[in-house]
Amino acid sequence: MSISVKNISRSFGDFKAVNDVSIDVESGELIALLGPSGSGKTTLLRIIAGLETADSGQICFHGEDATDSSVGERRIGFVFQHYALFRHMTVFENIAFPLRVAKDRRYGREEVSSLVGQALATVGLSGYGDRPATRLSGGQQQRVALARAIVHRPKLLLLDEPLSNLDAALREDMRTELRRLQQQIGVTTIYVTHDQSEALAMSDRIAVMDKGRIVQMGDPRDIYFRPANAFVANFIGAANLLHGKSEDAVAAGGIGSVRLPNGSLVACLFPSGAAKGTDTTVSLRPESIVVGAETNAGLNGTIVSSSFLGSSVRYEVRIGDDVIRAMAAGESTLSVGSPVSLTFPPTAAVVLG
Ligand code: ATP
Repeated sequence: MSISVKNISRSFGDFKAVNDVSIDVESGELIALLGPSGSGKTTLLRIIAGLETADSGQICFHGEDATDSSVGERRIGFVFQHYALFRHMTVFENIAFPLRVAKDRRYGREEVSSLVGQALATVGLSGYGDRPATRLSGGQQQRVALARAIVHRPKLLLLDEPLSNLDAALREDMRTELRRLQQQIGVTTIYVTHDQSEALAMSDRIAVMDKGRIVQMGDPRDIYFRPANAFVANFIGAANLLHGKSEDAVAAGGIGSVRLPNGSLVACLFPSGAAKGTDTTVSLRPESIVVGAETNAGLNGTIVSSSFLGSSVRYEVRIGDDVIRAMAAGESTLSVGSPVSLTFPPTAAVVLG
């Protein structure tokens, strides 16, 4: 099912929680709404679900206006942050619930049993069907909520931080499992998260939200390697932001040079091009930088801190007035005070804006 969100706004008092948001989601796509706490992700998801009304704008499902239709009329699976399970029911009955109340068809007893069994297996809870829902850990309850959301093979799946209560290892397994299932049944999915790695790993496209607006929409690599602005660059991984002036005119998509205040020249990618002498901000990912012995190539500076993280070492390198973070392999043993050169491909230094 395709979804078209057009110019949706929603205020609470004077506060614009969702501000003129438009998104088109293709049938079978998984879109992440990614942003910090309070950026309007949940409010937008609730409006799409029909649980909250918009002040203005329109929602279309498959080209048909659904702005005023209620949830019951839509074949939607949800997991919301407060995933209320039916406390008086077993795990099996919780998951079977959407099948029992389905209006579009009747499910026979064996079919219910088989679909619930598959859903339980997907979330790794086979054998838990007879447990009372209350006798589960938070993470297990969250997985039951997910099984309940997918059991009836919905056309649209709306997920609000569905893995937030799981420990790191289980969360990664469930990401993969959920994505596999989503692709297998081809369900259009909107997935709210504030976890950038989750969004990068799972999505076809990511909509980055800030203060009620979508500030960038694109596929994960675009968002990561071509952030549109400083907010996105910082929110998706801790980018270094360097300020300088373009040395020459550069065409859109071209490689040009930016002169930093300390006089060094950095070769950068200019996605939108620039005139000579334009003030520019360059986003440079710590993991794209190679920290090596001082040479004439690259940016020269001095290591001011070094943290061993096991598989990597995180260095901070002072270059003029800037401190640049760089990640090196765990074997790297450069010490604080060492003069070093930072090198990186020009495509890793992206001019914002
Ligand atoms: P989180 O990740 O913390 O859930 P979010 O991006 O999902 O954040 P929302 O829950 O959509 O953000 O909230 C956006 C803003 O709207 C917040 O500042 C919140 O306080 C406000 N808000 C949400 N619902 C209401 C409400 N019913 N009444 C008043 N303010 C609300």
